[in-house]
Amino acid sequence: MELKLNCLRCQGYMEEGFLLDRSHINAQGIHYAGEWVQGPARKSPWFKGSVTVPAVTREIVTYRCTACGYLESYAE
Ligand SMILES: [Zn+2]
Repeated sequence: MELKLNCLRCQGYMEEGFLLDRSHINAQGIHYAGEWVQGPARKSPWFKGSVTVPAVTREIVTYRCTACGYLESYAE
């Protein structure tokens, strides 16, 4: 669902996009978009600083103001 938004800072046009997660690359070199997770991050015991991935996540849609660069995200 694409929203028609105006920037909260300058009322400029907001274009739809997403945040690319370059830190998450699988063995085939495929990149993923960031996802929203409910609750606090659960630390993985296997790699320092990593977190466990829950079964339920939500796609994040991020809008960018074409005038000032302000970002606004939604997870439906
Ligand atoms: Zn703006």
